Amino acid sequence: MVLPFKHEPFTDFKVEENKKQLETALTAVRKELGREYPLVINGEKIYTDDKLVSINSANKEEVVGKVSKATKEHVEQAFEAAVKAYETWRKVPAEDRAHVLFRAAAIVRRRKHEFSAWLIQDAGKPWDQADGDIAEGIDFLEYYGRQMLELDQGKHVEDRITENNKYFYKAMGPGVVIPPWNFAFAIVCGTVAAPIVAGNPVLLKPSENTPVIAYKLVEVLEEAGLPKGVLNFVSGDPKEIGDYLVDHKDTHFINFTGSRATGVRIFERAAKIQEGQQHLKRVIAEMGGKDTIIVDETADLDLAAESIVHSAFGFSGQKCSACSRAIIHENVYDEVIEKSIEIAKTLTVGNPSEENVYMASVINQTQFDKIKNYIEIGKEEGELVFGGEADDTKGFFIYPTIFKDLDPKARIMQEEIFGPVVAFAKAKDFDELLEIANNTEYGLTGAVISTNRAHLERAREDFHVGNLYFNRGCTAAIVGYQPFGGFKMSGTDSKAGGPDYLQHFLEAKIVSEQF
Ligand code: NAP
Repeated sequence: MVLPFKHEPFTDFKVEENKKQLETALTAVRKELGREYPLVINGEKIYTDDKLVSINSANKEEVVGKVSKATKEHVEQAFEAAVKAYETWRKVPAEDRAHVLFRAAAIVRRRKHEFSAWLIQDAGKPWDQADGDIAEGIDFLEYYGRQMLELDQGKHVEDRITENNKYFYKAMGPGVVIPPWNFAFAIVCGTVAAPIVAGNPVLLKPSENTPVIAYKLVEVLEEAGLPKGVLNFVSGDPKEIGDYLVDHKDTHFINFTGSRATGVRIFERAAKIQEGQQHLKRVIAEMGGKDTIIVDETADLDLAAESIVHSAFGFSGQKCSACSRAIIHENVYDEVIEKSIEIAKTLTVGNPSEENVYMASVINQTQFDKIKNYIEIGKEEGELVFGGEADDTKGFFIYPTIFKDLDPKARIMQEEIFGPVVAFAKAKDFDELLEIANNTEYGLTGAVISTNRAHLERAREDFHVGNLYFNRGCTAAIVGYQPFGGFKMSGTDSKAGGPDYLQHFLEAKIVSEQF
């Protein structure tokens, strides 16, 4: 008997016992920093001389781990292993496949603080964000296991006299998973677990920013009983192996999450049929966002400011769902900005491997430079009313930054920054609030803060985003409750953590028998 799905509770670090447990885990993980990690191909651990070096972004001197780098030859071996494993794994009963995920969830749950500690080191996540990321990973394992059990029943189709019809789902074949670094556990876990539980072997290429925590997941799935060859870990430089993975004739799907530029490149390349390829590839591409919170003149203004600040600055704005635009009715514009600044002043910034801070560093030098550049652009396009400081002497720190009086078409209103920068603009009525909210090429998340029912109902239809929230922030979707995925150039709207997600990795088959 499998219990109904319930999402994993978050840890309250104000409770002394919880705080102590995380500190103990951080101390234990600190002793393991700098270790070397292998590739995993067909269950075999392969150490290469050439390594990806993962550092702590809040303390650049600290090496988190050195992870082996795959070459094209390694990738080729991984495809061979995956093609072979497909023949057996797809025939393993769905119940047994699901139980690998349930066991993995139990292992991670038992070692939750240890995993959070790795995420704090590898991805620079503040404590509550790391805890949320691990909880989401557990949720994906629990949820997709249950979804597979349900889909394994097939769907009802009609029989006729002397004719029996069966409609069921089968695995597609091996595929490639390419996740980003910002949910370095949850997204890796979800995008790997779904195709695997559906019966498809996977080649996982983690982000070079966060390969250590990805390797930890591979270890957990192995411990949970995943047979060799079903999950092959091919960390490496995307310039060397990225196209090779996507183009390969044995790739049946590419489960990608990341930027618009990489997603579009993968989408285009996957469309080309390679020599020996006998199928069309499926591409799941979940990409960037330029997410907006709109506030009308009837809104609770404290709620509006809280929602904007926490959606903009949680994990330093490094979420595809982060609020980077706040569009406010002109009657309440000044007040919402003032309240937002007051809250932003209370946010703490520091090194999460040393203390429980609200915000930490951004992921790397490239992102640091990019965000700093956008802050300069913002100074020309609008008025800087809070923050704007950046310091990369020890780690890549950018402080919460607020701009106001932006033209809706300004660059910082249109381009994804992926940092702790939010831009405010004014609108005269609800039509204009909505028009500005919809004026980007992205369509991922959004929120409306209003007490006007007619406005909320209008937004339900006309605010073009995959995840729309009323009277709350625009981040923090929960598996099974708010399945996640965006419209327009935010991607293929796969709705991760939702009831349709596994179907991206399954083919429906009908068998009709006469008797
Ligand atoms: P990215 O630079 O596009 O990288 C994503 C993944 O693609 C990484 O594993 C990266 O490897 C790999 N990659 C890069 N070039 C490649 C190529 N030519 N071929 C194959 N793989 C390649 O994005 P990111 O900076 O990691 O992540 C941030 C972006 O992800 C933001 O735009 C954010 O909005 C988006 N995101 C979207 C969602 C969503 O659900 N819609 C969720 C989270 C993040 P390396 O890291 O080793 O370069």
